[in-house]
Amino acid sequence: MNSKDSNTLRFYRRPPTEKNVYPRDGERAERSSDLLFVAMVMQTMQSIGGRLTLFSHPTNKKIRGYRVHAADGRYLHPVTGSELPPDEKHVVKMELKLPSLRAHLRDEGYGFRRLIRSGAHDLEISGDEGVLDRHRIPNGEQPAADPFLDNLHLAKLLDFAQPIKVKRGQLICPLDGPVAPGEVTLRSPPSTWTRLCGREWVVTFCPQCLFQFQDALVQMN
Ligand SMILES: [Zn+2]
Repeated sequence: MNSKDSNTLRFYRRPPTEKNVYPRDGERAERSSDLLFVAMVMQTMQSIGGRLTLFSHPTNKKIRGYRVHAADGRYLHPVTGSELPPDEKHVVKMELKLPSLRAHLRDEGYGFRRLIRSGAHDLEISGDEGVLDRHRIPNGEQPAADPFLDNLHLAKLLDFAQPIKVKRGQLICPLDGPVAPGEVTLRSPPSTWTRLCGREWVVTFCPQCLFQFQDALVQMN
């Protein structure tokens, strides 16, 4: 994968197509950062049921293919849901159910949301305060449960069957579709910098649901 691809990938400017049987970063579905791929697979499984089957090479164990194995026995393309022949050259490496993929989407895609709602107010935050104010726990209040993340199984994924038009500057959230992303810089408190463990990072996120497009460390000491 060249750097141009990985740049495109990190920012989710394009959903995967029928050519994509794999997550585009080459990781396994339950570890991948290609959360649009994961969301599209989740949508296929929501409408058809079944499990995501990962096939590997019989000897070197590398993942070679993905299928959704529907309850009626058919094998389907993980992204488009169209019927595919079973992968007879390879062996079943593992199977994933929908809740495992949902947990991965939650853990990988919503760390920033959890941070903002946790009352971690010792971080200095500069940037999109207006957007964040809607989501943050006010100072002094105890962080409550997050009804959105606690009920992610009820959240509606983007309808990937419809054409997705992305305007310049927009990124694709797996729930809200193309959005103009918010961006903030988070900086650990001054005392951490004098103790040589200061961190500054930039988070790019969906202004609707705080899905995290990118979390880039820009400075540390
Ligand atoms: Zn969103």
